[in-house]
Amino acid sequence: MGETSYGVPGRVTALAEGLWMIDLGFQERETVVTAYLIQQGDALVLVETGPSSTLAHLLAGIRTAGFNPNDLTNIIVSHIHLDHSGAAGVLLRDHAPRAVVHVHPVGLPHLVDPSKLVASAGRLYTDRMDELWGEVAPVQEDRVIPVVDDEPVHIGGLDLVPIFTPGHASHHIVLWDPARKVAFTGDVGGVRMPSMTFNLPPCPPPEVNPEAWAQSAERMRGLSAERLCLTHGGCFDDVSAHLAQLEPNIAALTEVAKTGLLAEEDHETLTARIHDWVAGQAGPIDPEVLVNLEWASPSYLASLGLTRLLVKRGVVIPHTPA
Ligand SMILES: [Zn+2]
Repeated sequence: MGETSYGVPGRVTALAEGLWMIDLGFQERETVVTAYLIQQGDALVLVETGPSSTLAHLLAGIRTAGFNPNDLTNIIVSHIHLDHSGAAGVLLRDHAPRAVVHVHPVGLPHLVDPSKLVASAGRLYTDRMDELWGEVAPVQEDRVIPVVDDEPVHIGGLDLVPIFTPGHASHHIVLWDPARKVAFTGDVGGVRMPSMTFNLPPCPPPEVNPEAWAQSAERMRGLSAERLCLTHGGCFDDVSAHLAQLEPNIAALTEVAKTGLLAEEDHETLTARIHDWVAGQAGPIDPEVLVNLEWASPSYLASLGLTRLLVKRGVVIPHTPA
C-alpha cells in the first residue's frame, strides 16, 4: 500500500494503469472520503461521487488525473448514503452530460427521488445537512441503470462486476475489477485510515445486519482481490488480514453497545463508550487520524445504529421511545 499517502483535498494518487484515487477532502481533512477513477479505452468511470459538499474537489481531482468531467461515461456507486452518492444528481446535471449511473436496484428509486433519503438524513444531521452534504439533486430516471448481482457491467472493453453485499446497508454493492484484481468495498469492507491496522465496521442506522455482513465478508474473501479500495481510508493490500477483522469487530462493537444499553446509558454516554473502544482498538495513532476516523464513521451513528439493532432484536428494552 505504498501509494496510499495522505493527501490534500482533491489530491490524486495513481494506483495502477488506468486507476486513480481522488481524496475528496471531506471537512478539509485527509482520506476521510475518497472516489476512484478508472479509464480504459473510451470508458471513463467514476466509482463513488462523494457528497456535493466536496464536488469542487472531485472535479479538480478528475482534471488532475488528466481528464475532463465532461468525458465521464459511467458512475457506479456502492450505495446511496450521502457520503457515497450524494453528488450524483448535481454531477450529472451540471458537469457530466454523457454519464449514466449504475446502482443497486433497491437504491435506484432514491437517486431518482431523493426526498425520503434527504428526510431521513435530516433526522440524523438536522441543521448540519447543508454543511455536511450540500445539494442532493434528483437523477433523471433514464440515466440510472440497476445493476444485477455478479453480472458484469460492460463499458467499452472494461468489465466491472457488482457484488451484492448487504450488512452495512441492504442495497450495498462491492465493485470488483477482475482485470486489476481490485475490489472497491464502499462501507461493507470497513473503514480504516492509512497507518492503521484496525478495520472499523461502520454501523449507522437503520439497516445494520451482522449475519448478512458476515456473508458479504465471505463473498469478498471469495474474490481473488489483491487490493481493497475503501471509500473511507484508501487502499490496502493486506486483503485477508483486513477482511478477517470484519466479523469479530462487528461482534465486539455490538457487545460494547449491548453493555452500555444494559447499563441504561443514554445516547451521549453510549457514544462516548463506543468512541473510547474505537480509540483503544486503533491503538497508538496520531490523534488527527482518530479525528479522521471519527468523521468517516462517527461514533454517534454507531450508537444509534446498534441501539436500533439491539432493540429490534429484543436484546435490550428501549428506555426511551424507539
Ligand atoms: Zn454507508
